Amino acid sequence: MENKNFYNEVLTWHNMYPEHKVTLSDATKSLEGVNPSCGDDIVLSLKLDGNTIVDGGFTGIGCAISQASADIMLDMIIGKSTDEALALSKSFLNMIQGEADENELELLGEAGALSDISHMPSRVKCAVLAWHTLEEMLKA
Ligand code: ZN
Repeated sequence: MENKNFYNEVLTWHNMYPEHKVTLSDATKSLEGVNPSCGDDIVLSLKLDGNTIVDGGFTGIGCAISQASADIMLDMIIGKSTDEALALSKSFLNMIQGEADENELELLGEAGALSDISHMPSRVKCAVLAWHTLEEMLKA
């Protein structure tokens, strides 16, 4: 399936060349997210200006899925408001549970590359790690 190849490429690309795997020197919020079942351990940092996420980055270690998911997430949320980021997060978590509707899938764009994870229960925690960390950070 062509679609599947495209999605694998998206994941491989974000894993090999993570654009947002950087230490933010001027972060306003940072939070560690850990997934012991796989060994994924990331620190997510955001720079907020009021309610706008003006920059973001992540550091740490983890499997390809956790790293690609964090990078894709940052791609999507930088420049958005915290409310928009939380809405994206909700859609993403719906998608991973196989419950996203068409509008949500469209909204998620590249993150749709991770939709197959819903059929791989052992990898779900890897895919949602960055998003859960984001939610925890923004709701705190
Ligand atoms: Zn993992």
